[in-house]
Amino acid sequence: MTQPTPIRRAPDRTTRLLDTALTLAAHAVPVLPLRAGKVPFGNCPACTANACGGRPNMKNPGPCQCPGACHAWAAATTDPDVLTSPPWASAWRRAAAVAYHPAGAGVTVVDLDDAAAVAWARASLPATRTVPTTRGEHWIYQGVMRSANAVRPGVDVKSHMQYARWLGHGTGRLTALPPAVRALVVKEDTTPAPDGVVSSPHRALWDRSIATGCRHTERFVRTGLERGLTLVRARTESGAGSQAFGVARFLTIQHAQCPGPCGLDAIGEEIVAAAVSVGVPEPYARRAVTNGLEKAPGRTA
Ligand SMILES: [Zn+2]
Ligand SMILES: [Zn+2]
Ligand SMILES: [Zn+2]
Repeated sequence: MTQPTPIRRAPDRTTRLLDTALTLAAHAVPVLPLRAGKVPFGNCPACTANACGGRPNMKNPGPCQCPGACHAWAAATTDPDVLTSPPWASAWRRAAAVAYHPAGAGVTVVDLDDAAAVAWARASLPATRTVPTTRGEHWIYQGVMRSANAVRPGVDVKSHMQYARWLGHGTGRLTALPPAVRALVVKEDTTPAPDGVVSSPHRALWDRSIATGCRHTERFVRTGLERGLTLVRARTESGAGSQAFGVARFLTIQHAQCPGPCGLDAIGEEIVAAAVSVGVPEPYARRAVTNGLEKAPGRTA
């Protein structure tokens, strides 16, 4: 009589999802389970409606230490002990997919929902790593930024405070987050300038969250910027254009040693607006500031 052949069962879904999650976590990618419908598990009773105050990493930091997978993206973790803990094990048993927190992994996902959105990306964005999705693609860039939904038809930008479904490593080389992607969200977040001040409908304001590669404190950058803007605005009679150039150059040099990005484009926009507010024609102001941003030695981005 021969030995019975051991039955080799394919790992079940729970095991596969948890294995994927643990592998990603080991590569410093914070993960969380998604339930059917590709959405996070709801909050536990204690966390419902943020009664707990929210997680420490949320936009408004809170004291929540809930052991469950509460608070969606904010629960994402690389800690294998949490991932395999009883409350999370129960979630994995009911899970349908693994998600990750893009910014936590240092990336931004441009989520293209359909063929039209993919076609737009191919025509408009630099090539990078892509991952096929149900009807579209994820384009993944190195670098983090603010997230926003529906920045164009069928296009979401997922990075900070968002989760993206993990659908595999994809293909292609990861490239740096391009200005074209940042601009998609800048547009949405800014308030229109007062009539007649700046013609651009999407004037960017400098914000710490876009300066992800800046070595300076927010206070340092803002103080320098405000001083520069005051100098430009004081030139009510003449010379505001060249002052704008000088301020742009001075502020750019401050960031010569930063790895970048430092949000210099947004700083430039603020200088342009200041120059325009004292009567400099916008094309001239823009040219002066662009030259100032470029003239700094040793600056690569
Ligand atoms: Zn909870
Ligand atoms: Zn909570
Ligand atoms: Zn900087």
